[in-house]
Amino acid sequence: MGRLQKILIPFLGLVLAFCFYSARENFKPEMLKGKRVIVTGASTGIGEQMAYHLARMGAHVLVTARTEAKLQKVVERCQELGAGSARLVSGSMEDMAFAKRVVEAAEAELGGLDMLILNHVGKSYFSYFDGDIRHVQKLLDINFLSYVAMTVSALPMLKQSGGSVVVVSSMAGKVGFPFTVPYSATKFALDGFFSSLRQEFSIQNVNVSITLCILSFIDTESAVRAAADVLLMSPAPKEECALEIIKGGALRQREVYYKYALTKIPLLLRDWAAELLDYLVRQHYQVERPPAA
Ligand code: NAP
Repeated sequence: MGRLQKILIPFLGLVLAFCFYSARENFKPEMLKGKRVIVTGASTGIGEQMAYHLARMGAHVLVTARTEAKLQKVVERCQELGAGSARLVSGSMEDMAFAKRVVEAAEAELGGLDMLILNHVGKSYFSYFDGDIRHVQKLLDINFLSYVAMTVSALPMLKQSGGSVVVVSSMAGKVGFPFTVPYSATKFALDGFFSSLRQEFSIQNVNVSITLCILSFIDTESAVRAAADVLLMSPAPKEECALEIIKGGALRQREVYYKYALTKIPLLLRDWAAELLDYLVRQHYQVERPPAA
């Protein structure tokens, strides 16, 4: 009987988990039709690709980053692809007043907000930690505090629409990686803030979902330029990555893992065999040739 219980209970658990997950709604592009979405860091990379996917789905997109000329091209392409509407607000997320202004623009021009996609990332170095505390502070402002500021400003609109916050993070926000110390700190901070906030929303019955996206190495220009010589793995395509993030947000998933095999599966080791995971992470770096400081 004891042995039967040992087998039966985990088996039943697996069956229930399967039923629970397979009963979840499937993604349909129409879910985004007419939705009002802000995408930050949308002048290039994954953010730019998210804007194009949303445009194809018929969403109203508001893109933001610092480089207005690039954003203008993204807006034109979004219009060609069939966006409900496309507009831009340019400026730097170092300035919390600017972060707030972007949300105010959505309120004034879109009349509300359904999805806030926080994706921008400040420039950092890919090398040993150099002890520069001011850089850590600046990166925390851009990669973390502005995410908080935008969420605070957007919450009244998101509560009204029953909307979603989508936070783009990284494996470096779940596990210690070498050569990205300030960047990792900002990504871990996002997990702490948004995972705690999700708990409070649940207690308070706030109908706003929070999706944290855990990404592996993606083939954006900046990431490949910084890491391709040192990271011993192939980057995954930014177009597919962008689509997976949008799907996760639309389905109100708690977390998105992309690429799944390179994120979710290694994370299973984190709490049980942390040293083994650390060792495996180091095996993916060419440390005989560390990047120049
Ligand atoms: P990216 O190509 O370097 O794009 C970064 C975006 O952020 C650009 O649009 C940039 O535009 C904007 N930005 C930079 N500094 C800014 C500032 N001070 N204020 C406002 N906007 C600013 O980045 P990505 O590779 O697509 O990464 C997108 C997200 O995925 C990030 O959150 C990153 O951490 C995450 N991620 C990426 C990878 C990867 O391998 N690519 C892996 C894991 C996680 P401007 O320069 O015009 O401002």
